[in-house]
Amino acid sequence: MPRDRRMTSAGALREPLERLYREFDYGARLTRDAIEFPLRYPGADDREVVALLTACLAYGRVDLFGRALAGVLATMGPSPARFVREFDARRDAHAFDGFLYRFNRPRDLVAFCAAAHELLARYGSLEKCFVAGDADPAGPIGPALERFARAFLDADVRDVFPRRRLSRGYRHLFPLPSGGGPCKRLHLFLRWMVRREAPDFGLWTSTSPARLLMPIDTHVENMSRAIGLTRRRSRNWKMAEEITARLATIDPADPVKYDFALCHTRMSGDCRDRRDPVVCPPCGLRVVCRHWKGHRRA
Ligand code: SF4
Repeated sequence: MPRDRRMTSAGALREPLERLYREFDYGARLTRDAIEFPLRYPGADDREVVALLTACLAYGRVDLFGRALAGVLATMGPSPARFVREFDARRDAHAFDGFLYRFNRPRDLVAFCAAAHELLARYGSLEKCFVAGDADPAGPIGPALERFARAFLDADVRDVFPRRRLSRGYRHLFPLPSGGGPCKRLHLFLRWMVRREAPDFGLWTSTSPARLLMPIDTHVENMSRAIGLTRRRSRNWKMAEEITARLATIDPADPVKYDFALCHTRMSGDCRDRRDPVVCPPCGLRVVCRHWKGHRRA
């Protein structure tokens, strides 16, 4: 059966997506989302550091990386920002011994803290570090995000990686937009910091939510295909741009506001990425869903 690859019009998308955003039960899903880790810290400086560390490790299932991350945060104590400001890569080289999560090893976390220590000392906050690399605050977010990720990759981590031979694990924490990948974890971090409405924090008031791109993971990709937000076959930067551009036709000031609800609708099992006699009938997106329509638009 041929795939329906047509995009859904803004007029058709607006009402079901706005209703999903308005009526979604965010509280019921917060403890199953990576955002629960930075949410534990009320102070802006702690939340900023924990949000970046969480986003960097947010690959794979939340319960799996969450277990590893919880141990790291216990080591960092009640104020992770203070821990980083006082971090010394030589003295604290074994701070995270015992940590293991897929591509990442203790030395990657030591390097993260050493780099964050250097950048906080130079700029005062991660927001100011981001702004320093944002040459065009009215332009696309990609170049600023590239410089932000590069700031961590170019930091002096020679105490961890002699001759600056960065580990694969450390490089994996900071994907570069110029690589063409979706950079989901960096976009997720920006969503948390920049968007003004809950569940996001709105701490980075220097950046407009209109510039953000959707953090595309497998759940958002599947939902986006189902409701006609993208034609692309590969999950990459261009797909993030295409999906965001389509959402911006509904809300140009805040196009990524639909991310949490779309992602958790799929993650929770309230969508099975196929026509289902139980979960589809109450779904508000069925009026724009190609699974529900049975490919009749093709
Ligand atoms: S109608 Fe069914 S397949 Fe389509 S988005 Fe809703 S739950 Fe998912």
